[in-house]
Amino acid sequence: MSERKQHKIMLTEDEMPTRWYNVLHDLPTPPPPVLHPGTGQPVGPDDLAPLFPMDLIMQEVSTDQYVDIPEEVLDVYRLWRPSPLFRAHRLEQALDTPARIYYKYEGVSPAGSHKPNTAVPQVYYNAKAGIKKLSTETGAGQWGTALAFACSQFDVECEIWQVRASYDQKPYRKIMIETFGGTIHPSPSALTEAGRSILAKDPDSTGSLGIAISEAVEVAAKDPTINYALGSVLNHVLLHQTIIGEETLLQLAQVGEQADLIVGCTGGGSNFGGLMFPFLRERWAGAMNPVIRAVEPAACPSLTQGTYAYDFGDTIGMTPLMKMHTLGHDFIPDPIHSGGLRYHGMSPLISHLYEDKQIEAVAKPQSECFAAGVLFARTEGIVPAPEPTHALAATVEEALRCKESGEEKVILTALCGHGHLDLAAYDAFLSGTIEDHDWNDANTQASVAAALEKLPVLSS
Ligand SMILES: *Cc1c(COP(=O)(O)O)cnc(C)c1O
Repeated sequence: MSERKQHKIMLTEDEMPTRWYNVLHDLPTPPPPVLHPGTGQPVGPDDLAPLFPMDLIMQEVSTDQYVDIPEEVLDVYRLWRPSPLFRAHRLEQALDTPARIYYKYEGVSPAGSHKPNTAVPQVYYNAKAGIKKLSTETGAGQWGTALAFACSQFDVECEIWQVRASYDQKPYRKIMIETFGGTIHPSPSALTEAGRSILAKDPDSTGSLGIAISEAVEVAAKDPTINYALGSVLNHVLLHQTIIGEETLLQLAQVGEQADLIVGCTGGGSNFGGLMFPFLRERWAGAMNPVIRAVEPAACPSLTQGTYAYDFGDTIGMTPLMKMHTLGHDFIPDPIHSGGLRYHGMSPLISHLYEDKQIEAVAKPQSECFAAGVLFARTEGIVPAPEPTHALAATVEEALRCKESGEEKVILTALCGHGHLDLAAYDAFLSGTIEDHDWNDANTQASVAAALEKLPVLSS
C-alpha cells in the first residue's frame, strides 16, 4: 500500500481572506502615470468618470495597502470561494519528477475561470453608483460570462462584444451569457462607429480584443446610464484578483510549503498578478524568495517581444494612454485558440515589474501548451482552458529540469480556468490541425513593425 496522499488543500468559508492586497503600496519604484490621449497629461479621476464608478476609479489610483472586500461581494464570493489548492501528485508521477507541483484551481467559479473575482465587485460598485447597464468586450467568452453572471446578481443589464474569431469557435459561451441574462454581439459589429470603420476596411475581420474594447467603450461613453467594465489589465482588476494569492498563501502554510517558482499565463496579466502579488509582498518583506515567471503565447508575445511604451488599450485609440509592453494597438494577433491571451498589450503593473526585473517571462507555442494540457487532463482529471495550458507547459518544462538535476523544487501555478467550453480547440489539437505560427516570419514581423509605427507620439 502506498502512503495516503493529500490532493486538495481547502480553506473553510470563515477562513476566506476579507481584503484585497494593493501592490502599488509596496512597489520599489512607482509606475509611470496614465496619460490623457489629448493633452498628454496624467489623467485625473474626472477623466475616467464617464466610464467607471468613483469607487473603482479610487481603487485604480489608491496606494493603500489593503482594501476591505464589501460584505455584499464576500457573500457572492462564497458561492464558490475559497477555491481549492491541489497538489498535482499524479502529474508529478507521470513526469517522474522530484518537484512538488501545486495548482490553485479557479475553474470552480460560475464562469469556470478567475474572472468572476473582479466581475462581482465591479458590478457591485456600479450598481451602488446607480448604473443600470454595463458594456464590455470578451475574447474567449470567459469575461463576458463572468460579467453576465455578476450582473444577474445585482440586477444590472449587460451588453457584450465578443471577438469574432472566438464567437465562431465557441458558440456555447454565447448561450451561457444569454442564460445569465446578457446580450452578445460578434465584434467587429455594425452597431458602433468603431466596428463599422473596421468592417469598411476588412469585411471579414476576425476581430481582436482591441477592436471589441473600442466598441464597448464607445457605447458607454455615449450614454451616462451605461458604464464600461474591463476584465483585465487595469490596477483595480488585478487588485480584486489578489484573493487568489491570499488564499494560496494560507493553503501552502497549511501544508508547510513555500513556493520556489510561481508560473502563470498572461493575457492582460490579471490571474498571474492576482496569484503572485501577495507572494511579492512576502518576498519584499524577506519572508520567502520565489522566482516568478509569466508565460505568454508565442503568437502574441507582448512581454518578451513587445516595446515598453505608452499605447492605447483599444484599437481605435479612445482609451487613456498606458505605459506597457505592447505589440501596437492595431496589431491583430493570429486567431490562436487561447482567445484570452490575444491582447496587444500587458497590464501596466506587470509591465513595470518586468522592466524592474522583479519577474521573468517566456513565450510558448500553442502545440506545446496543448500537449501539456492533455497530459494534465489524463493525470489530474481536469481539462484546462487553453490559456493556462501555457503555464502548464512551463510547469512541465521546469519539472523535467528538476528530474535532470534532482532538485526538489516547489512549483506553484494557477489553473485559472477549465476548458469545458473550449473542446473544439482540443479537437483541433488531437486531430493534428493546430498550427504554430512563427513569430519571426516576414508577414508577422511586417505587421508588428507597422503597428509599432502607429504608437502614439507624446509631445513632452
Ligand atoms: C481571461 C483569461 C485569461 C487571460 O487574462 P489574464 O488577465 O491574463 O488572466 C487567462 N485564462 C483564462 C481562463 C481567462 O479566462
